[in-house]
Amino acid sequence: MTAFDAIARRRDELAAIRQDIHAHPELGMEEHRTAELVARKLEEWGIEVHRGVGGTGVVGVLRSGNGEAAIGLRADMDALPMEEANDLPYRSTAPGRMHACGHDGHTTMLLGAAQYLAETRAFNGTVNFIFQPGEEGCGGALAMLKDGLFERFPCGQVFAMHNRPGLPVGEYAIRSGPTAAGGAFFDITVEGKGSHGARPEAGVDPVLAACHIATALQSIVARNMPPMETAVLSITKVTGGDAYNVIPQTAKLSGTARFFSARARGLLEEGMKRVAEGVAAGLGATASVDFRLIFAPTINAPEQTERFAAAAAEIVGEAKVDRTKAPGMGSEDFSFMMERVPGAYLHVGNGDSATVHNQHYNFNDAAIPYGAALLARLVERELPKGAQG
Ligand SMILES: [Zn+2]
Ligand SMILES: [Zn+2]
Repeated sequence: MTAFDAIARRRDELAAIRQDIHAHPELGMEEHRTAELVARKLEEWGIEVHRGVGGTGVVGVLRSGNGEAAIGLRADMDALPMEEANDLPYRSTAPGRMHACGHDGHTTMLLGAAQYLAETRAFNGTVNFIFQPGEEGCGGALAMLKDGLFERFPCGQVFAMHNRPGLPVGEYAIRSGPTAAGGAFFDITVEGKGSHGARPEAGVDPVLAACHIATALQSIVARNMPPMETAVLSITKVTGGDAYNVIPQTAKLSGTARFFSARARGLLEEGMKRVAEGVAAGLGATASVDFRLIFAPTINAPEQTERFAAAAAEIVGEAKVDRTKAPGMGSEDFSFMMERVPGAYLHVGNGDSATVHNQHYNFNDAAIPYGAALLARLVERELPKGAQG
């Protein structure tokens, strides 16, 4: 029996795990119940478990044979702070929290692979099952790395996947090189001098300065970025003032920047400081920019991309593996793990569902065997049983 068939037989058992996680969503770095569920399942299947890696992260270690090669497979576990609009028997039981990015499915697919590999052990070496907390801008990957993830659990290569609405179930998409953008969050604080709304000459208006800064910032991507670089700078939050007749002391602009290279990130960060400080100074105010790198660009290593795609093609046939997926402007903090260890990140079809981060989104349980079997076969291909350690 193939790995796919063996895992597909467990469809109902795995779907029940997925729906249980879906019904109990937890925000980033607070995945206590989810982490415990994962740890207990791994223990039940005879896998060595390490809890509390980088906060609520869990690592399962499965060894077979005498091989010294090790592979890391990573899934994310966190939900989003939003209200679910689906009418499902297993809809979110936590108000204001929802598995709207399918991390319930990612966790389940990795569990499915772990269960199969623990049973069959048709590989030679070590598999590290990495269940990561806080992917949604909460620094979960960095927290695990800071906690010595790859020192404690060395991996020669790492792999992860994300579901993709719009891509049919049973299909995969991947690309070598840049596949998801790097991302930063920023806050720009504009300091003026508060005064009466009817007496602007007595103060320095930070709201006016913030408005000019917001407009001028758009010149960075348009005029400073080389046209062949891809970058986005979005101001998504403007705050300042509390009253109709008070010119406030401060105003604030916040938002996000996205980029595919360190060069573009540098141009954005330096450009924002130059423009914000310069425009504010021209109007008699001051501005300070707090630019925080949240995600590195996700860059797939060519060799690991090829290996991931080849394992996928073995399961569904070459025609259902798109190896030329266009890069997306979304971000993924698995990028930080791939900065340390060569790896690849692949998309698995979620069928005709709402888009991720939408209140009507739901992970498609039919995709579970495709994700789980791919991870399992990848291990068997990369750590072949005949190989000596
Ligand atoms: Zn997400
Ligand atoms: Zn996600």
